[in-house]
Amino acid sequence: METILSIKNLNKRYGSLQALKDVTFDIKKGHVYGILGPNGSGKSTTLGIVLNVVNKTSGEYSWFDGKMQTHEALKKVGAIIERPNFYPYMTAQQNLQLVCKIKNISYSKVQEKLELVGLSERKNSKFSTFSLGMKQRLAIASALLNDPEILILDEPTNGLDPQGIHQIRDIIKQVAAGGTTILLASHLLDEVEKVCSHVVVLRKGQILYAGLVDGISSNEGFFELQSEDPEKL
Ligand code: ADP
Ligand code: MG
Repeated sequence: METILSIKNLNKRYGSLQALKDVTFDIKKGHVYGILGPNGSGKSTTLGIVLNVVNKTSGEYSWFDGKMQTHEALKKVGAIIERPNFYPYMTAQQNLQLVCKIKNISYSKVQEKLELVGLSERKNSKFSTFSLGMKQRLAIASALLNDPEILILDEPTNGLDPQGIHQIRDIIKQVAAGGTTILLASHLLDEVEKVCSHVVVLRKGQILYAGLVDGISSNEGFFELQSEDPEKL
């Protein structure tokens, strides 16, 4: 099976702080992966490095079985690693059309993706009128416009109410059911359990567990982590 992303002995230092230490894992096509760990465990740093927005200190990563350079590979990656940011006085549809124009994608994708995230009835509303959940859903639609091989999301449900959380998780599941590989960073065990099949657990920049989500509860190190940080995880 194709390896979408392979990470080997990745290290990151911010000055004297070792944010990642020998992080090694593979993402295989067609699965839903979680990166789970408390605040500051290195989730966003890992995503930032493989998306080429954070410099690694050492180690390797390769996309799509190493067949492509990172800048080529990233054209097949949809990622949301920041708060959704669109033109406030343009409508949802106009904002997505603009993304299409910039990325040379057919406008016909806009309606399809708005429907997927449940926003087609609000397509003529200005972005500024959207709730945080709707903004996040628009960001997902935008990231999916070019039908990426993998969708990467960094804590997409943070700050949402229970209904908003539920909607985002449902969309992720739907995208996964369509065959898109998912990589979801989260500090919430229940989120990873509900959405993901596979998980990489990070603690202070080191991998504590990597494997099936089902195996997580029998992992001793994981209990240690939970007891250190019972509220966050
Ligand atoms: P997470 O996403 O799991 O919360 P991060 O990857 O954001 O973790 O952070 C990992 C560690 O690196 C934390 O201790 C954080 O404070 C530190 N860190 C992250 N970004 C920077 C930065 N730009 N400069 C210095 N330290 C950083
Ligand atoms: Mg983070």
